This record gives sequence, structure tokens and C-alpha cells, in this order.
Amino acid sequence: MTDEAEDGGITFADLGLRPELLGALSGLGYEEPTPIQRGAIPSLLAGRDLLGQAATGTGKTAAFALPILHRLPAGERGADPMALVLVPTRELAVQVSQAVHRYGRELDARVLPIYGGQPIGRQLRSLQAGVDVVVATPGRALDHLGRGTLRLQDVQVVVLDEADEMLDMGFAEDIEAILQELPENRQTVLFSATMPARIEGMASSHLRDAVRVEIAREPARPGGAPLVRQSAYLVARPHKPAALGRVLDIEAPDAAIVFCRTREEVDQLAESLNGRGYRAEALHGGMSQEQRDRVMGRLRGGTADLVVATDVAARGLDIEQLTHVVNYNVPADPESYVHRIGRVGRAGREGVAITLAEPREHRMLKTIERVTKGRISVEKVPTTADLRARRLDLTRAALAESLLEDDLDSFRVVVEPLADEFDIMEVALAAVKLAHEAGGAAIDEEEIPEVAPGPTREARGRGPGGGGRGERRGRTPSRGMARLFIGAGRHAGVRPQDLVGAIAGESRLSGREVGSIEIADRFSLVEVPESAVQEVIGALRATTIKGRKVTVRRERVAPPR
Ligand code: AMP
Repeated sequence: MTDEAEDGGITFADLGLRPELLGALSGLGYEEPTPIQRGAIPSLLAGRDLLGQAATGTGKTAAFALPILHRLPAGERGADPMALVLVPTRELAVQVSQAVHRYGRELDARVLPIYGGQPIGRQLRSLQAGVDVVVATPGRALDHLGRGTLRLQDVQVVVLDEADEMLDMGFAEDIEAILQELPENRQTVLFSATMPARIEGMASSHLRDAVRVEIAREPARPGGAPLVRQSAYLVARPHKPAALGRVLDIEAPDAAIVFCRTREEVDQLAESLNGRGYRAEALHGGMSQEQRDRVMGRLRGGTADLVVATDVAARGLDIEQLTHVVNYNVPADPESYVHRIGRVGRAGREGVAITLAEPREHRMLKTIERVTKGRISVEKVPTTADLRARRLDLTRAALAESLLEDDLDSFRVVVEPLADEFDIMEVALAAVKLAHEAGGAAIDEEEIPEVAPGPTREARGRGPGGGGRGERRGRTPSRGMARLFIGAGRHAGVRPQDLVGAIAGESRLSGREVGSIEIADRFSLVEVPESAVQEVIGALRATTIKGRKVTVRRERVAPPR
């Protein structure tokens, strides 16, 4: 996390956090603090009470968790908690506990979620064994207080997280009762997405000389230049990679930048988009300047379609060719949204800004709309039927283009004899079918469930959605690339990731160097760098794909047109 300094941004180290926390954050791929973290952490480290207005998606959890962990004594610790975090739901209790646990890994922080619905016995045993941070729903916390199993006399910090939600859920009295049990000289922190009078009242009776931190209080400059079309898709986390793939299939950007939160997310998403047949490049602060320049060169030169980047790495980039900006998550504040989408729609050209939001982040989306005074239309994730329709459109467009070319005569020898025997419409339909299928018109069949805005049950227990199959078309290979024919396709269960995996596993190429992939019923076409053709052919012939030996050769040159 030293590379941010060159960009002039504030780092986590600048905020004064201890080395064990910096190590954990770096390990998680966080490159720089979000605005709410920059605003809250110094005051919290100084021991001030704090009233923070921030919704899910802003990074508020780390904003309060890091200062708590910063206080953990290095040596022996007592059995009773030094911090208590109250949250409205069991999902949030689990989520916040996991976050505190991750940030506190190098400090061996003992964190325990306690919530209703879980057998109380297990919670009792963990409490007896000793904990540093308890994350609890108010009802269950009160239960434990009544039984004498939760002792709060050592609590130095209490956090009321999503306080407005807790009040809406009728926890006001429980919270009051819990606060009565806490030491007078504790630090009190209150986070709320909205600041109705009841929250202000609660703050004025329980917070002392509190610092206020809000994100997006000042309107940012009017967001979304008129030429930027802004849309958002609500989608549950496990389905995000597949949803993004579909949106990109429909939008077909010339050049796009996809913003992620962390380095890990950047690497994973770049890999998954490559598997879908996009030429995606990762760009993050862990890369040298030279590596970053190379990536940008590929996007500018058209040998990459997408760059997947963190904010830090993309800072200051100006890419003329850019048509789409994609937020893989809702940005942590409206400023950063405006800044990101300002990269398209320049110089009178049309640009598109796309945001994927989890249902819980819907509120943040509304805040961005309000602050930027821009409209973000919430769209449905394209269905498999939409994709089919779009692919037929593409086939129609390709045929129309071909009809305008005057080099079709050499195919008369094919069509004329058939026309004697069949209706010409039938002949055309069969030809279109072949062209369409050869274009790799594979569709990921898994439907992506529609989700409603607002707090929802967590979608759990499912693997990443999609497993989408690639679909890139084009009659000639991209510059510097050669196309290989592989004698196994959809019928053999081949997916793009199998081909990328086989090539990356068996040759010196990385997955990212593999170009576009088309999968037809009985064969596949894969682009690889011209310089590596022989090596890849040799490597693939020596191995198996989906358990079978397959034909691998350079694709035959298309018949003259
Ligand atoms: P929260 O608003 O606390 O629910 O956090 C939203 C998401 O942002 C979580 O997935 C965090 O892991 C992630 N996050 C929080 N802080 C940062 C940061 N400084 N850089 C990157 N990701 C972050």
C-alpha cells in the first residue's frame, strides 16, 4: 500500500492505523480508504464520539471496525468484550463479525456474533471462552444481559450500526436498556443511512461532543453529462459475474473500463470475463507502472476490450476510445461515481454508465441520483431470451453487411443447385442457421433471479452464477492473433473456461493472453497470439479436453469471398 502515495491519495497508513491492520487490509486488496473511512477513522482513533451518515456500500463497517481493532491490547486480554456493535438483523450480525474477523486476523481478534434463532448454548460457550468484540442484535444482547452471560463493564466502544433500521424495527427501548449497562466513559458511535429526528434525538442524548461525518452532503457537480446514458441492474452477489457478462453481451462496448473495489476482485473478474470470451485486462495498484502502461496500450490499440480496474490504478487515465464505464459495485460515494462516469461521453460522443447493485445497495444508488441530480434507470438483467434475440440481431446485421459486399459470386455454385431442389427461402434459412451457429451462439442457460430493492435475505450456498459461454464473433482474427480449430464443442460439454484452462495450464500463455473464443456444436475456435501458435497446438494435442483427445490445428483459411 505504498504505491498510492505516487497518486497523491490518502493511504490507510496516513490514517495512523497499526501495522497489523495495514497488513490485513493489504492482504484483502484494499488500495485506499473510502471517503467515510477517511472522514471517520482519525476521529475515532482520537477517541471522539461520532455520528456518521452512511449507507451500506460506503465502507462504513471498516470505518468503525478498524479503530476498534486498533485499540486491542497486544498481550493477555480479559474474557469480557471491549467493544459492542449493535445491528438490526442476524444477516448483518454475521456480515459485520466476518468483516471484523478479517480485518483483525493478524491481531487474533476474538469476534462473536450473537443473534436470535441460533441456539443460545453455543453463544454461551463462546462468551465464556472470552471475546473481544460482540456483534449483536439488540433483543438477543438483552437476553444475555438478563442472564448475566454478557458482561459489559469493560466495553470501551459501542457502535449502533444502521440505527435507523433498528428504530424502524422497534428496537428503541432495547437499545436504551443496553446503553444503560455500559460504562459512562465509553466511546459511542452511531451510523445511520438517514437522519430522521428520532436519530438526531438518540444522538443528542447518548453522544458527547460528537464529530459528524456525512458522505455526499455537498452536491457534486451535476452528474452524468447529458450524453451519458446511466443504468443500473439489481442483482444478488452470486449472480454478478454472469449478469455482467450478459449486460456486456447486449451492450457490446468497443472499449470499457470495469471498476472493482479490491485487487482480488479485479483479478477474479478479469479471469471470469476472459472465460466468457472477452479480452479483459486487470489494472491495479499492485502492478508496476510499466505493466499498467502496457495494459492501457492494449485497450487503446484495440487488442483488449475491457480493463478491469481499481479506482487507484485508473486515476488520471484518459482513454479516448472508451464507450462504457461499468461499476461492478455501487461506488462508495457519489463523488467517485461522478468521477468515474466522467470518463465517457466526452467531446460530444455518447457514453454509457452501468452499475451493478446488490439489493442492499439500492439506497446508495438513490443517494447518488439525488446528489448528482442525474437519473439512473434501473433495468432488468437480460434474460436468456433477450440474449438469443440479441444474437439473432447480430447475425442479421452480419448478413446485411455481407450482402452489401460484392464478392458473393463464388458461392453461386452452392446456391444454384440447391435452389433447383429447395425453396430459396429454405436455403436461406439453412445458411443463416449455419452462420449463426458458427458465430458461437452459445447461451448460458441459467436464469438470473430478479431481486427486489432493499434489505433482503442473503443469497447463500450457491456458487458463482453463470459459467457463461463465450460469444465473440468476427471473421478475421484480431491483429497479431491466429485462430485455432479445436475439434470439440458444445456437444462435448466444452465451455470457454475449459479451453482457457487447458491453454493456460499446458502452455506458457496466461489466460489473459487467450483471445476470443467461439464454441459451436461440434468444434471451437480460439484465438491465441501468432507467436505462440505452434506451442499451443503442441500442448493441446498432448493433453485432453473434457477427457478426450481432440483435433487441434490452425483454422483453415476461409474460402475466398
Ligand atoms: P460496507 O459499506 O461496510 O458494507 O462495505 C461495502 C464493501 O466495500 C464491502 O464488501 C467491503 O469489503 C468493501 N470495502 C470497504 N472498504 C474498502 C476499501 N477501502 N477498499 C475496497 N473495498 C472496501
